Amino acid sequence: MKNIENEIITSLKNLFEEKHLNIVIVTHENPDGDAIGSAIGLAEVLRNAGHDTTVISPNDYPSFLKWFGSNVEILVYHHKKKKVKNIMAGSDILICLDFNEPERAGNIKKQLLLFPKTKIVIDHHPDPSDFADYLFSDTKYSSTAELVFDILKEINFKKFINQPAAEAFYTGIMTDTGSFSYGISRPNVFKVASELLTWKINTEKIHSATYNNFSKNRMKLLGYCLNKKMEIFPEYRSAVIYISRSELKEYKFQPGDTEGFVNFPLSIENIIFSALFIEKKDIIKASFRSKGNFPANRFSRENFNGGGHLNAAGGESKMTMSKTVEKFKQLLKDYKHLLSETKI
Ligand code: 5GP
Ligand code: MN
Repeated sequence: MKNIENEIITSLKNLFEEKHLNIVIVTHENPDGDAIGSAIGLAEVLRNAGHDTTVISPNDYPSFLKWFGSNVEILVYHHKKKKVKNIMAGSDILICLDFNEPERAGNIKKQLLLFPKTKIVIDHHPDPSDFADYLFSDTKYSSTAELVFDILKEINFKKFINQPAAEAFYTGIMTDTGSFSYGISRPNVFKVASELLTWKINTEKIHSATYNNFSKNRMKLLGYCLNKKMEIFPEYRSAVIYISRSELKEYKFQPGDTEGFVNFPLSIENIIFSALFIEKKDIIKASFRSKGNFPANRFSRENFNGGGHLNAAGGESKMTMSKTVEKFKQLLKDYKHLLSETKI
């Protein structure tokens, strides 16, 4: 945590050591295991430290992330607009977790920018935008959960971590590293994970609850996608999967059902770049995953108005599905050199 200046840490320590605060924690749109895990964990800790804490997600989150031992409730802004606005109006601090630009907060972006009091961002994505009073940003961290844990240690709040918080932080690290298989550049990932085990969390249960907890329809949709909707381009070491709204409907899509689909093509020999396009109401949501040094985030930024990490990025397209897929195929030609020389 070298780039976190002592001054910010001291300010945060002073802030959280105040007697009683109303704190809201906001995750990004379509929150994943890291966003939900770090939010639940931090909420537990701040509550144990005597503060009132509410977690808000812009929209629904996957049901396979609803097993947590914590009794922290997650308010979904999309369903509880008035309640969320009231809570935000009465809050002293707003903490943004796992995102670093207001756009990523989706429908809650306006409320977030209008929030008149202290704003804190804790995140591990590149290129943070400047909208908070305190910014904790470090791309060396595997996950926001790992970063939150280190910050809590620095401000002497480790004593407020309980088992549900440890379980939630572990989930954040586990999901953002694909069960400790990527995004690990430093020993600290395992150091934090091993420290979390001292709260006697059940890692086997956490893994199973997260990854072996999908609906029957999700499995059938996955089978359909791999069988009928995946195209492979060996000459570009790339693959694409695309799903229309009517197909999602046919398989009774629920939020989170397509989570992880984009990773499957990467398990094919010599495929290093994978795209997933999903038709939403107004746009096509894009997900990109890569291996080695092929920059999924640059590809998304340059062509799909998005961003993210080197190996995991997202974006969007306002064109039709067939035009979007065609655009993707054409783009592969432009990136052929980069794709060919990528080492894994
Ligand atoms: P996913 O494909 O799981 O939705 O997102 C993968 C990564 O890309 C995540 O780290 C996420 O924060 C980032 N990401 C996803 N969608 C967008 C987007 O529209 N814009 C930007 N800047 N990043 C995104
Ligand atoms: Mn994350």
